[in-house]
Amino acid sequence: MKIQFLGAAGEVTGSRHSIELLLAGRQRRFMVDYGMFQGGREATNKNIEPLPFLAKDLDFIVLTHAHIDHSGLLPRLCAQGFTGPIYCTTATFELLKILLPDSAYLQRADVDRAERKQKAGKWHGEMPVALYSREEVDLALSQFEVLEYGQVVEPASGIQLEFRNAGHILGSAIAIIDIAEDNAQKKRCVFSGDIGMKGKVLMPDPDSIANADVLVVESTYGDRQHRSLQDTEDELVEVISSTMTAHGNVVMPAFAVGRTQEILFLLIDLVRRGRLPHLSIWVDSPMATAATHLTQHFFSQLDSQSQATFEWFKANSESVDLRFIADVEESKALNKIRGGAIIISASGMCDAGRIVHHLASNLPREQNAIIITGFQAYGSLGRRLVDKAKKVRLFGEEVLVKASIHTIGGLSAHADQAGLLDWLKGFEVPPKSVFVVHGEPESSSVFAECIRDELGWKNVIIPERLHTYSC
Ligand SMILES: [Zn+2]
Repeated sequence: MKIQFLGAAGEVTGSRHSIELLLAGRQRRFMVDYGMFQGGREATNKNIEPLPFLAKDLDFIVLTHAHIDHSGLLPRLCAQGFTGPIYCTTATFELLKILLPDSAYLQRADVDRAERKQKAGKWHGEMPVALYSREEVDLALSQFEVLEYGQVVEPASGIQLEFRNAGHILGSAIAIIDIAEDNAQKKRCVFSGDIGMKGKVLMPDPDSIANADVLVVESTYGDRQHRSLQDTEDELVEVISSTMTAHGNVVMPAFAVGRTQEILFLLIDLVRRGRLPHLSIWVDSPMATAATHLTQHFFSQLDSQSQATFEWFKANSESVDLRFIADVEESKALNKIRGGAIIISASGMCDAGRIVHHLASNLPREQNAIIITGFQAYGSLGRRLVDKAKKVRLFGEEVLVKASIHTIGGLSAHADQAGLLDWLKGFEVPPKSVFVVHGEPESSSVFAECIRDELGWKNVIIPERLHTYSC
């Protein structure tokens, strides 16, 4: 069996792992995740680079969760000739029905806008690229096969697949793939997907897995410890209170799926506990609105505290003025609000979507606060803000950064170093091969070292992108 890492190797986006094996005398190939690279031109180039094999030669795809950096190139793959099934959980599929069309729409809108500006001589820099169309999204969505956590399916004779809860976002899964390859012992391959933080808002703790021969584990925060939820709450309360007192706005870029719902539940919970006064919150992302409704739909998959917060809000809805913005005109009207608003909008890394408009109108005023709560990939606008850029280029034009920028790390949907190690301790014997992926180089190497030192595991590899490993 061979694994080739086509993405999320030495970086956090573009999760795509190809597995090649011999089954009943036939060479077979499947992939775990098929995500988009995010963050600037370099990412675009990787998104459009040709695959090292033909799309039609892939047998099936296993998708761990709905985030675009794990799922976002699936429509492109189907358009290129992949016709097999894509396996994921029910909630993941429901989220993708929102996420993928939105992704196609945003790409188109970016290209159209850039072309208009270019014609007017106002566009400077590289042109964006549309990776797929809405029709190609529909084609991809027709290839999905859903399963529940714990259900076992056989995507091909000799391969069994089971999903367990990863506690990261709604529907997120750890993939357990048992493989009976020709002339080899049966192997268990475990792909962590993205692992959630124990005790975090909204999602239950990740399921622990007892054994694996081959383990592919994420390392987004492999070199860091998150602040405690208590510190995170204190910081949020401090920034929101002082900004409201100064009659400013709080703008929170957030992934529409997962992070937006976590922030909402947390803010409502802080009001419930009397730590924040009455709030006016605008959720300005059609996708976040739909994902919030889905979160309500999958209520039974939430952790118990979030269920209680939700019940309280239903009975006390006047305590938070919560509005979901539907159309673009309403969204633009938000730019006129000069203070007292909390605006939650996507995309989470500030690269596209309505958040860019909100940043353009709120960054130049010093009484405003921008609260960054998610991981910002190298090259993204969010990262430049975190790195204290004095000015940024939005829609091809320069905007001064006068608002205060706050990074509040404790809300991460990803486990930190201790959380990841804790999850690894669930394995009763060390896996024969461990591949550390989905982290920037420093993070992956610190975490790999940590696995060797603290767990005593021997064969810990940080794979290089496009390299193939036998195992
Ligand atoms: Zn994720």
